[in-house]
Amino acid sequence: MERTTRRSIPLLAMLCAGTAAMAQMPPPHPAAPSAYPAQAAYPKENREAVGRYLAEGRKLAGVDLEADFNWRCLISPLDKNIVFGVQHDGLVPATRVFDNLYAIGQNAVSAWAIDTPQGIIVIDALNNPDEARDILVPNMQKLGLDPKRIKYVVITHGHGDHWGGAKFLQDTYGARVVASATDWGMMESPSRGGGPFASLVPPKHDIEVKDGDSVTLGDFTMKTYITPGHTPGTLSLVFPVFDKGVRHNAGLMGGTGGGSSPEAARQQIASLARWQGITKAASVDVLVTNHPVHMAATEKEALIRYGATGGNNPFIYGVDKYQRYMGVMSACSRVQLARMGENAE
Ligand SMILES: [Zn+2]
Repeated sequence: MERTTRRSIPLLAMLCAGTAAMAQMPPPHPAAPSAYPAQAAYPKENREAVGRYLAEGRKLAGVDLEADFNWRCLISPLDKNIVFGVQHDGLVPATRVFDNLYAIGQNAVSAWAIDTPQGIIVIDALNNPDEARDILVPNMQKLGLDPKRIKYVVITHGHGDHWGGAKFLQDTYGARVVASATDWGMMESPSRGGGPFASLVPPKHDIEVKDGDSVTLGDFTMKTYITPGHTPGTLSLVFPVFDKGVRHNAGLMGGTGGGSSPEAARQQIASLARWQGITKAASVDVLVTNHPVHMAATEKEALIRYGATGGNNPFIYGVDKYQRYMGVMSACSRVQLARMGENAE
């Protein structure tokens, strides 16, 4: 009996070690390799033009925008397996990115809160009412922001992942909902803007903003621009942010997801050119996007939370680098067009 007990201890220890090692291993593969999804194919692509625009984009990106170039130019928005593999639903820590700007979204899609003495402006509302209630609102509360102070919810575009939670915020806190007239139409259409969002209930029709309009709260002003391409009425935003009291100008281009048809990609190229002019004139030096993966925002936020920025907030790109980022996005739209067999010229 005694001998058995002595022998069973190392056996148990071995079993426990084995279980711990197993926990580190990936789950078993559900399918044979022949059934794995392939990278998207582009049967009509103009390879010469794809190569030329890739080279242009890479040159413009240099070393400091290589990750953004890879994301938008090499991982095509047309390759849904890869896009949704990286851009998966997942919880990420809420982060105060600037004195007045807070990341309150999830891994797949961003939501932002801008705090002002007169109330809070939320940019985008996540996928659905549950995410607004169970992710966006708790993220605000973790950062000391009272959701009852939300005055506006600004919707960057009519895809459901950006407005699905807007009705919840409207109904629960009396927030005013802001979008372009065109993308209000998307939200209110039977398909709700397409994709898996047809069952969503849109917010009650509220504020329509036009190109050059402003959303204001006290002294705070956010300028709104209509930049078609990703959707017909994509809204892009310029607003001030403060880094330890120092003012910077943030530019959020509402459709860095690109255009999915040749016509949309052409519109996107035209909008990016116009957006570069608007943001240069406004001395925009801070990049903010509406999907974290478009600028490795989740990783940048981790640096901020660890106090590991070396005093340089990684969202501050500077005016020239901001312009280059948008130039890379434009080259990537040309890559898209060439993949669809069209010529950007
Ligand atoms: Zn979208």
